[in-house]
Amino acid sequence: MRAMTYEIRAIAPDVLDQLRKTDDAGRRPRRIVEREGGNPLRCCLRRSRPGEAILLAAYAPLRRWALETGADPGAYEEVGPVFVHEEPCGGPAQGYPAAMGGPRRVFRTYRADGSILNGYLVDAHQSADPLAASILLDRLLEDPEAAMVHVRAVEFGCFLFEIRRVVLENPTTDGVPVR
Ligand SMILES: [Zn+2]
Repeated sequence: MRAMTYEIRAIAPDVLDQLRKTDDAGRRPRRIVEREGGNPLRCCLRRSRPGEAILLAAYAPLRRWALETGADPGAYEEVGPVFVHEEPCGGPAQGYPAAMGGPRRVFRTYRADGSILNGYLVDAHQSADPLAASILLDRLLEDPEAAMVHVRAVEFGCFLFEIRRVVLENPTTDGVPVR
């Protein structure tokens, strides 16, 4: 028996180690000590706090996806700015990262080859409320062509986090997906 569910992914620890030295644009990331905080951190999927040392780095999520999966995103490959902690931080807490939500988000679905399938404009409720987000994600990933979702901020266009389709070989029998 097989069942579909999904997993929420921050930037992986080994990729973070690389980005902290040289980012996906080939530069050294810029170091910032937060004064007010509030920037979305892609290492642990929470907002930065005053006094924390963070880095502003270029990140190419589809290039990284392609390296893992052998996909060819071609012209869809994008490089954009992300904030990450300067030091390893232990990654995100379990569950949906409500702190990454906001009034204008796009949930963009991608095919397994890295091409864009569709984009959905999402409000604060759907992007920050775990239940509303999960209903939407279930619906988007019902499409067998959708391999992955990027959550992005509309105003800045920047990548926030990724949701990947996962096929479970031996799903739980009570019908509750494992997340
Ligand atoms: Zn972090």
